[in-house]
Amino acid sequence: MAPTAGLVVDIIDLPQQVGSIKNIHLEIPAPADLGAEMIGAREGSPLVLDAELTSLDNGVLVRGHADVHLTGQCVRCLRDLEDDTTISFDELYFTPEAARAQAAEGDEEADELFILGESTLDLEPALRDALVLALPFQPLCREDCAGLCPQCGERLDDLPADHHHEQLDPRWSALASLLPDGADTDAADSEAAGSAVDDEEAQR
Ligand SMILES: [Zn+2]
Ligand SMILES: [Zn+2]
Repeated sequence: MAPTAGLVVDIIDLPQQVGSIKNIHLEIPAPADLGAEMIGAREGSPLVLDAELTSLDNGVLVRGHADVHLTGQCVRCLRDLEDDTTISFDELYFTPEAARAQAAEGDEEADELFILGESTLDLEPALRDALVLALPFQPLCREDCAGLCPQCGERLDDLPADHHHEQLDPRWSALASLLPDGADTDAADSEAAGSAVDDEEAQR
């Protein structure tokens, strides 16, 4: 078995007698993949975790909380986000025998149970589940973020309220692309030049 590291804690000194308690305090760099796609605790960011482990008949009850530093991006305007938050969790880790018993009873979620190691308990899955639940699915820099201008890609919050672009009716450009080559060279050229400029601006 791998030595205890990161969020894997030793429970060899936690008596199996029901009600026995062990307290955990960790200050470690966050492991990888702690969070969701748009926001989460970056690998190596500071993570402080306190937990109380309690022996039960069928496993160990873990109640804890972790202070994490979140970084992410607003889904509308892509502005960088930073936040400190506290994640609470409350999970039962089953002994392998108790988990097997659950599976034998036909518990369909038995293979998603948290299982104790031989003499260790890995806090990472409990913390990860709690964090993913607590994080916004679509983080925003502010509730009514206006997002990006669809034409130039600039942040609408940074632009004057009357910001707009002169635009040809998109139906005409669709028609122009249907014309055979050379039928209306001038129109086709200016259309191509126009869209090239649009692309350039959108990338800024
Ligand atoms: Zn935003
Ligand atoms: Zn614009």
